[in-house]
Amino acid sequence: MTTDGLYSYAEGKDEGRGELQRCFAKVGAEHGFTEVEARWEPYKEFKATWRRCASSAELRITDYMMASGAELLTDLARGIFGRMGRGGQREIYSERLRQHFLSPEFILRNQPLYLRRSRNLAYCPRGRTHDLVSLGQDLRDLGLVNGVPHSYVSWTKGENRQRVGYCSVIMRVVAISRILDRREVPSFVPSYVLYHELLHLENGLRFGAYHDREFRERERMHPHHEEAERLLRKISVSPQFR
Ligand SMILES: [Zn+2]
Repeated sequence: MTTDGLYSYAEGKDEGRGELQRCFAKVGAEHGFTEVEARWEPYKEFKATWRRCASSAELRITDYMMASGAELLTDLARGIFGRMGRGGQREIYSERLRQHFLSPEFILRNQPLYLRRSRNLAYCPRGRTHDLVSLGQDLRDLGLVNGVPHSYVSWTKGENRQRVGYCSVIMRVVAISRILDRREVPSFVPSYVLYHELLHLENGLRFGAYHDREFRERERMHPHHEEAERLLRKISVSPQFR
């Protein structure tokens, strides 16, 4: 981590504040809110939170959108106020916002920031025993995944045995638990977990069930699907892996 990044974050903090506030106040007014306060928040995950009380609303918006501009902030405000309202609109992101999240500018600006905020990453795909780069290449060679540009894959620092894989779709970051980087764990196990997470990346941002039937069908296409599932269950309970 560099202090540079933190400093420029602090510097930029007030810069876009007026714009954020203007966009949210305007859309809030359209939804009957007379008092709206919107602030940037350095959440690790991409998210927004809000509190409402009668006709006032207080919002904290992920600072990953700090460089997104008024048009997209207005779209986000529409999505959020739409969800806050009665009935709760399901979809927060407009098509334009989705395109923005998929753009190289968005990922190149925000992925480094996200990585700095991810305290549990080893920042390295090459483990002591297994290499996630070559496992990923094997999955592509088998035609199981296509590969997503700007994706970042790493082992975690800690040995979590319940959560063996993690994926931030919007930041295109995949992390595999260090517990699978052991000699007694065959390479098809981390391969299978990596495959699962890469499928999420490929599916991209979508609303609803992440593990729907189509996902489960593709998951079963991994050549070691059953064995890997069996070993993962064993790893999650075996004292050997404590
Ligand atoms: Zn999953």
